[in-house]
Amino acid sequence: MTMTYAASEVISKVSNGVLAVSLDGVEMASFDLEGRVLYYVIGSLIYRRSIYNHVYRLESRGKEERIVQKIENPSPLIERAYELAGEALEVTNDSSVRNALQVAAGRTTSWLCEDVRKLNSLYSRISIVPPDLYFSTYLQLTTGCTWNLCTFCTLYKDRTFSIKSREQFSQHIRAVKGYLGKGLDARRRVFLGDANAMDVSQKLLRQALLNIGQELEDPPVYSFIDGFTTPKNLTRMDFGELHDLGLERVYLGLESGNPEVLKILNKPMHLPEAKEFVNQLKSVGVKLGVIILIGAGGHKYWQDHVSMTCSALEEMNLGQGDIVYLSPLVETETYNKLTESLHLGTLHDKQKEKQTQEFLDQLKETHRINCPVVPYSIRESFLS
Ligand code: SF4
Repeated sequence: MTMTYAASEVISKVSNGVLAVSLDGVEMASFDLEGRVLYYVIGSLIYRRSIYNHVYRLESRGKEERIVQKIENPSPLIERAYELAGEALEVTNDSSVRNALQVAAGRTTSWLCEDVRKLNSLYSRISIVPPDLYFSTYLQLTTGCTWNLCTFCTLYKDRTFSIKSREQFSQHIRAVKGYLGKGLDARRRVFLGDANAMDVSQKLLRQALLNIGQELEDPPVYSFIDGFTTPKNLTRMDFGELHDLGLERVYLGLESGNPEVLKILNKPMHLPEAKEFVNQLKSVGVKLGVIILIGAGGHKYWQDHVSMTCSALEEMNLGQGDIVYLSPLVETETYNKLTESLHLGTLHDKQKEKQTQEFLDQLKETHRINCPVVPYSIRESFLS
């Protein structure tokens, strides 16, 4: 049942491609301009809908940690968000906001299910994006990972590496653009996936970035790189050109600055080469996101993992526009077997929190990293 409220109780506005509706300051829902629910908040309870139409409850823990609970039956929350849009529509006169409210109020939970079906027809499953890019437009120039053998990673086990041709990618951009519609207004940045979009030829990358610029009004572009295949594929000059064409920041899974830990992770990265590579990228203006794996190497390597990783980060001369993510390792079956055979000792959640704090302290006090250092959990990836 739709309730009727006085205009003063309901506030609706559109900002940066997001429609936000608030009732009495205690209930809030937000939508993209195609009416996809983004958030629903009631009192202190915060819910977020993923692009795959799952809903999570978010909680604050201390200053930085957030935990996520998946809601088993999210339909009532989604329906209430849409009801709220309907209630706001009845008391809103501002025509620009009314248009957005009309779209949202006309959507239903079954429309969202159909929307996900369309999403699935456009992509191999989107496994992950960095946390600052949850609201980006994902474009899949490549699928999968060229290496796909790290002991802690199962993200792309379901697919082999493949590359879209120039024509296929061009079609893909247009299809994604058509799918997102006005929802693009809330997703003004592009993430180029999957794990190794930078492992294709410079010619294809140049064409891809030009194409993105033409179709999507020159958005900043982001992508993953790795420290062992990408440096062999692209030069400093190549990255300089890509930066001029819109490549803003790349994300490197450094995981650890300890070569023994990297061996356990089966990441064939030569640290001096990776550090040199990062410095080259920075010299041409490409920003860096560096991901560190909390708990890697277990108890056995705890101290060395922390100190050597902090030193490696210091040598990368990170600064404005760069970011370091501290991400707790999520143990896989393969990694657990290694832990057992090498007697590494697994860190439980509290111990990972302790190690995270050690990283934060050392990076602030001893190694003086000049960019944000942000803990986040891969479990909080809202894509799935
Ligand atoms: S961690 Fe990165 S390089 Fe390793 S398998 Fe996963 S996606 Fe590939």
